Amino acid sequence: MDFEYSPKVQELRQRLQAFMDEHIYPNERRYREEVAENARNGNAYAAVPLIEELKPKARAAGLWNLFLPEAEYGAGLSNLEYAPLAEIMGRVMWSSEVFNCSAPDTGNMEVLVRYGSEEQKQQWLYPLLEGKIRSAFAMTEPAVASSDATNIETSIVRDGDEYVINGRKWFSSGASNERTKFFILMGKTDPDNPNRHKQQSQIIVPKDTPGVTIVRDMSVYGNYHAPKGHPEVLFENVRVPVSNLILGEGRGFEIAQGRLGPGRIHHCMRIIGQAERALELLCKRVVDRVAFGKPLAEQGVWRERIAESRILIDQARWLVLNAAHKMDTVGNKVAAKEIAMIKVAAPNMACQVIDWAIQAHGAAGYTEDFPLADMWVYARHLRTADGPDEVHRNAIAKHELRPYLNR
Ligand SMILES: Cc1cc2nc3c(=O)[nH]c(=O)nc-3n(C[C@H](O)[C@H](O)[C@H](O)COP(=O)(O)OP(=O)(O)OC[C@H]3O[C@@H](n4cnc5c(N)ncnc54)[C@H](O)[C@@H]3O)c2cc1C
Repeated sequence: MDFEYSPKVQELRQRLQAFMDEHIYPNERRYREEVAENARNGNAYAAVPLIEELKPKARAAGLWNLFLPEAEYGAGLSNLEYAPLAEIMGRVMWSSEVFNCSAPDTGNMEVLVRYGSEEQKQQWLYPLLEGKIRSAFAMTEPAVASSDATNIETSIVRDGDEYVINGRKWFSSGASNERTKFFILMGKTDPDNPNRHKQQSQIIVPKDTPGVTIVRDMSVYGNYHAPKGHPEVLFENVRVPVSNLILGEGRGFEIAQGRLGPGRIHHCMRIIGQAERALELLCKRVVDRVAFGKPLAEQGVWRERIAESRILIDQARWLVLNAAHKMDTVGNKVAAKEIAMIKVAAPNMACQVIDWAIQAHGAAGYTEDFPLADMWVYARHLRTADGPDEVHRNAIAKHELRPYLNR
């Protein structure tokens, strides 16, 4: 397999790197200050002025909706072409939004492009593609083990021309943001169907519908991740038109499969960028920092960790590119094993590399003076979100065991 970047991708990488150098890295402090300023003004989940200022610039630079393979709606790049670009954006936690490439909007846009009706596209997809609004995905529920999505209990019941929704979700990332205007919600339209994968449906719920209440914001290692937020949301007798149902009753799992594959690989691409940046910071630190009479870089333990980091990052990158190539050539469903493999490998790799980088920085590594602490939390949560490690390992083992069990 040839994973050399094509001339088109090389050109895009250069353009993206130049944009990062001019507009993103120099503004890391400003972003933090503006988020803090919003919080001081009592609106932690307000839009961040810097992001809104940079979005038109990114669009003018042709760096917009790069994640969407459908050329009619986005950049028309394959997964393999997008991977090195997502990696560059991943180097700064908040930068993907500047390019309209941030989760969960990317997954929601993909769902609407592939499965949305024309009416749904007009009302929800096009404003998202323009970066005018944001969205959330509400699947996980506090009351049930949501890593097994067949457990989801939220009910979606038809009543004439409307569906009535009742349930409690949490960790609906982005829902607290003032610019988030709708949820794609997963619930059950047919809870008694003997096929547990046909019980679920996905439906669009505008955030301002009566009966939708943001109950509380959930913290992640003590951080509320403003301006995004991962709130608990109550849906009480929420009524939406039947035309808000996506694809049809009982098709929720089918949509989830289409959504989660690209979503997972995008996260992995981004955290490879984070790990790469963490290694850069580590190397700079151990060269400059002198302890016990010599730079840390001259201590064998740091050389070993640096070497191990390089091995781990490159292994993960090749696995990601391989999964991306498979998704492009045989489709997301057939590439399920490769997607599961990187979903385990990349977050675990990033946790280790970033952890070493924090250690190399001593106390400073835990602070806002470096992006490492935020990076570690992001990598760590990916060992649970979008399917815990164990569930993906289980899926990989199932693939491996299949020929032996069917003998
Ligand atoms: C920061 C963050 C953002 C998130 N964003 C979203 C979002 O936008 N939308 C959304 O719907 N959800 C979101 N989630 C939720 C996430 O997808 C779920 O937490 C995840 O799917 C696991 O579900 P659960 O929390 O109910 O854990 P459970 O299902 O209760 O699982 C708990 C643990 O059990 C173990 N386990 C589960 N299955 C197995 C198995 N087969 N074998 C062995 N062990 C197993 C695993 O260790 C797992 O961590 C987010 C979570 C976080 C932390």
